[in-house]
Amino acid sequence: MAQRPYIVGNWKMNGTRAMLSEARAIDRAAQRHMKVEVALAPPYTLIHAVHREVEQIGVGAQDCHPGAEGPHTGDISASMLADAGAKFVILGHSERRADHNESDELIERKADAALEAGMRVIMCCGEDARTRDSGKAEKFVLKQLRASLPRLDDAAERLTVAYEPIWAIGTGNTATPEDVGQMHTAIRGLLVELYGQEEGAEVRILYGGSVKPENARDLLSADEVGGALVGGASLTADSFMGIALAVGETPEA
Ligand code: PEP
Repeated sequence: MAQRPYIVGNWKMNGTRAMLSEARAIDRAAQRHMKVEVALAPPYTLIHAVHREVEQIGVGAQDCHPGAEGPHTGDISASMLADAGAKFVILGHSERRADHNESDELIERKADAALEAGMRVIMCCGEDARTRDSGKAEKFVLKQLRASLPRLDDAAERLTVAYEPIWAIGTGNTATPEDVGQMHTAIRGLLVELYGQEEGAEVRILYGGSVKPENARDLLSADEVGGALVGGASLTADSFMGIALAVGETPEA
């Protein structure tokens, strides 16, 4: 069965309660664009408030600790996030890999913890500019994913992968639809190898990296692209829902 395009906003370290009005506006627009599945990952401090304010969109987190509870000052477990209303968690984002030195092995443990807490996982991967220029992007991304993806029995059912070339994040540069299609096809091959033909084929693969209303249609029409993970352009309802519109949605109201 064809799945709806999945458009996920990552607010990163942006947003105070003043931004709840944007979340409400995104939710209202999402109610009129039901052919697209829309979700938001606000910072921890807004998860519960956004969860309470919205009816249609999914609410998620941007990270979790691999443990269930305990002496980890400043950390948040997956079950605490679920309790606050989060239904999914973004893991392995390149900013966390760089800022917090996160390894593939740690990210896999976080993914297992999130699944065990009943959440869905959006697993990020992507190469830097040097790796792309050296022609090794595909090899790098597949190795990174192979080491980071969760292996629990039902993992594929609650998994989304996001391919985000680091050189495209927040830069205004985007990969070409051809390059995106090639990478997504390679990722699909890995998902089928790891999870089996049927389950591996159902996992959505998002593209992320400077997606905007103006380029979304082209990028999302590339092979095996099931949606977008959006940073900067998710901070206002206008630009974020402009992306949802651009992927072919006609308002129902
Ligand atoms: C991201 O960081 O997940 C991202 C895709 O950011 P941006 O859309 O701003 O490039």
